[in-house]
Amino acid sequence: MKMVGSLIYCFVVCICLCQCLAFPVDYNNTAVPVKGKLNVHLVPHSHDDLGWLKTVDQYFVGSNSSIQVAAVQYILDSVVSALQEDPNKKFIYVETGFFARWWRQQNEKKKEIVRKLVASGQLEFINGGWVMHDEATVMYVDMIDQTSLGHRFLMKEFGVLPVTGWQIDPFGHSAVQAYLLCAEVGFSSLFFGRADYQDIANRRNRRTMETIWRGSKTLGASAQVFTGILPNLYVPPDGFDLGIATTEAVVQDDPFLYDYNLEERVNSFVKSARDQAKQYRTNHIIWTMGEDFAYESAGTWFKQMDKLIHYVNKDGRVNAFYSTPTIYTREKYMSNEIWPLKTDDFFPYADHSNAYWTGYFTSRPALKGYVRKLSGFLQAAKQLEFLVGRNKRKPNTYSLEEAMAIVQHHDAVVGTSKQHVANDYAARLSHGSLEAENVMSSALVCLMNGKSSNFCGDKISSEQRAQTEPKKENLFEEIDSESISRDKIELEQCPLMNISYCPKSEANLDTGRSLAIVLYNPLGWKRNEVIKIPVTNTTLEVLDSIGNKIQTQIVPVDPATRRVRNFYTQDMSVQAGPLFNLYFEASVPPLGYSVYFLKAAKNGASAAGTLSMKPGHINGEIIVDSTRIQLAFSKSTGLLKEIRNHHNNAVFPINQSLCWYNSSDGNTRKGTYEASGAYIFRPNISRCFPIEDSKKQVIQSVTKGNVVSEVYQQFSPWASQVVRLYKNAEDVEIDFLIGPIPIDDDLGKEVVSQFRTNMVSNKEFYTDSNGRDFLKRIRNYRADWNLSVHEIIAGNYYPLNLGIYLKDNDTEFSLLVDRSVGGSSVSDGELELMLHRRLLHDDNKGVAENLNETVCFDNNKTCEGLTVQGKIFLNVNPTEQASEWRRTKGQREVLPLQIFFVTVGDEIKIKEPQFSALAKGYELPPNVAIITLQELEDGQTLLRLAHLYEASENVKLSVPATVDIHNLFPGRKIKKIVELNLSGVQEKSKIKTLNWKVEGDTGSSAGAPRRDALKDGEHIVELSPMEIRTFNLDFDV
Ligand SMILES: [Zn+2]
Repeated sequence: MKMVGSLIYCFVVCICLCQCLAFPVDYNNTAVPVKGKLNVHLVPHSHDDLGWLKTVDQYFVGSNSSIQVAAVQYILDSVVSALQEDPNKKFIYVETGFFARWWRQQNEKKKEIVRKLVASGQLEFINGGWVMHDEATVMYVDMIDQTSLGHRFLMKEFGVLPVTGWQIDPFGHSAVQAYLLCAEVGFSSLFFGRADYQDIANRRNRRTMETIWRGSKTLGASAQVFTGILPNLYVPPDGFDLGIATTEAVVQDDPFLYDYNLEERVNSFVKSARDQAKQYRTNHIIWTMGEDFAYESAGTWFKQMDKLIHYVNKDGRVNAFYSTPTIYTREKYMSNEIWPLKTDDFFPYADHSNAYWTGYFTSRPALKGYVRKLSGFLQAAKQLEFLVGRNKRKPNTYSLEEAMAIVQHHDAVVGTSKQHVANDYAARLSHGSLEAENVMSSALVCLMNGKSSNFCGDKISSEQRAQTEPKKENLFEEIDSESISRDKIELEQCPLMNISYCPKSEANLDTGRSLAIVLYNPLGWKRNEVIKIPVTNTTLEVLDSIGNKIQTQIVPVDPATRRVRNFYTQDMSVQAGPLFNLYFEASVPPLGYSVYFLKAAKNGASAAGTLSMKPGHINGEIIVDSTRIQLAFSKSTGLLKEIRNHHNNAVFPINQSLCWYNSSDGNTRKGTYEASGAYIFRPNISRCFPIEDSKKQVIQSVTKGNVVSEVYQQFSPWASQVVRLYKNAEDVEIDFLIGPIPIDDDLGKEVVSQFRTNMVSNKEFYTDSNGRDFLKRIRNYRADWNLSVHEIIAGNYYPLNLGIYLKDNDTEFSLLVDRSVGGSSVSDGELELMLHRRLLHDDNKGVAENLNETVCFDNNKTCEGLTVQGKIFLNVNPTEQASEWRRTKGQREVLPLQIFFVTVGDEIKIKEPQFSALAKGYELPPNVAIITLQELEDGQTLLRLAHLYEASENVKLSVPATVDIHNLFPGRKIKKIVELNLSGVQEKSKIKTLNWKVEGDTGSSAGAPRRDALKDGEHIVELSPMEIRTFNLDFDV
């Protein structure tokens, strides 16, 4: 009986549980937004960095797991299966660079499945650039290019343009990101995770975590974007990490098993949702259900979300469902809420009182310099590739285009990856640039042979080519012929010219041979510029293309550069011996080239004279002049002390020096542990220690001449400068050489160039946003909240890509940079730029390596700290001329002349020694630039024109400008022009914009009037200040 009783009891219990829980449970995950309820949008996502602790391809395949377990290929495999199994599940994918790697490997059957998932909205691409680019250390043109590369892939394979911005991880957010890379692309919203901890606390209180962001003063409401700061960086709320390796509670709804926690999980979900809702407007909130490299086992996330959605909705206090940021944005828009307004940007970013993420503005300055150099190089390569027709086969510019896209990632050019990953980025750039150099070289050879566009690439058949082939009459003809490998480079660049190393120009030129110097100008304006090339003897002359002798000047290469050159070229069998820089002024037409010839001077005559003086022989102050300004250096300190304007006799007192901040090792101050590291800048004390050598004079030599004057300053064995003034210059070029930074005293150092003036700047200074707009900064102040100041130096640093300036009543003092750097005005009248950092501690932000870059040779037997060479350009001018100088000089530095060399015999006559792709005599207006001219893989042409000035920046130039597109393509017949969105994939007229309601809006703040898309048959393009217009062109071949 007893036994029978137990059995009956057990039977009854089982029946009851099965009825109560009805296992297997058919989880209902079909929920959608419900009016009147608190709606929790669960957004499944994975944050996949294109390189950080592992390289991009290691992350893709999943190798190098001892560093980090992360494999993107399995994430995509796993997510696609999960979505295919259940039409209610959703997922967003963000990094097209990874997706394209995976896509290439899929068969047609799998591709068809994915196309259906995309078409149904289950899989949505958002952001969609090749990478999630950084926003502090990148130029706007590179941001546009990498976004376009990703969007072109998505449009080609899926016919979609992403509509949502997703910059969840970058360490601060730029105005250009908001108005240009979101609004102008066609995104209706932008979401990110990181903003200053004080800003976030204030916004949570005021429920201003979501705003309408108008990043452009000029474009205003016409380029705005709904912007949401995510509630938990980009991870789920506490307790809801559902990944396979989670340490948090797994949703356990089976009462037959231990640790049943359904009630607790549902209560916790509801509480988290309600807490979050207090900080946000409307009854819609977003939960980011993912993290770094999540969903390798997608099932663990989806299975638990299915349960949460099912039970939470059964509970009924809140409504949870699968969603995407696009659906979330739509609900926010439909709520009719009036949103707060945000202008300017989100820099600098601090995540606690002593952790300002302002070190990365300068981290890995050599990589930053390399990326900047290749940015202009790539634009020039794409132009030349377009001019002669893109090769369907290699070589083409694609490898460099992809490498440049990858390095815009928010751990790449940023300088926050591990060293082996930084090496991988540099190697990709190097491989890409070699191929692109090949493209440029063949294109130039072809054009120099007198063949116009379309005669050098793949566009014409070999029969046609044979018919049009000129007779073999010069050196260049063989390069063109089909029988010769296109890999053969005849024209060569010298990538190490920055350390005065160029085998071509250093070689001895016998009688009867000369070195052709081909200068390609990627600007739409004619330019006259002084060229500097290293040579080994002084009896040389330079002739222009019609044989006129050009004025030259020879200056000995300074000892610091020679030392660096010797160290960095030790495995290149470089000849020792005298070394000089030869200077001459060249003139190059717009979007075209000029050829100059370097040859041995007849009768051994010396090139233009030089004058070098030891400072001891100079009386009084040390002075050098251009036709426009004079520089005076103090004889006692050796430092620049005045800039005098010959034109208006204005005298500008200035003191420029080098100094270093001692990096905090993390324990030097009370309070939070925080060291200076790859991300963080935290000086130990606010003093910047001068770099000086009391035993030696700073000025080591002075050279004056007819082309250039130079003052060589040596501050210490590891810090020197050449202050250079060209004959007709209105600006000063400071060529600095910093390193190896000594660390034998166990002190980390962050080296700064400091400029002191007596300008009355009232705490104000101006820095650029991604090289585009200039934003006013006020020391120890933020427009959006009352700032509590804890780091008086690091907390006032801003990212520079173009430059920084101070403003007085009618004078502006500007500095332009040749790569991204951190800069500030830490005292009135002062500007400073951080040039190099060598650190002995990690800052605990994830990279887990000290930023201590070293360079080794001879199987690591010879190593030293990295030396960085770079340039700063300095200008003092009345306001009107100052803005014009910044924009014009800025364009010249962003798109420098590309210099090629080839040795030729005297008998050679180059058919076309000078060429411009533009209509005869035409150049672009001074306020307009071509920022893209590219033939795409499908043969279509992409053209972007940019107005370079903000509204009210310059009386003369902040006005609408006009370009007749026919002037850009003489000799070609344009079949069709279509105006596109900024990323170049969607017709502009099809882009929808949302009309958000904004607090304080009176309807009059619409911003600049925007034009309709160019209509069929139109070819006159008008550009308003700060406007960029993108076109697809189809030519009759
Ligand atoms: Zn990241």
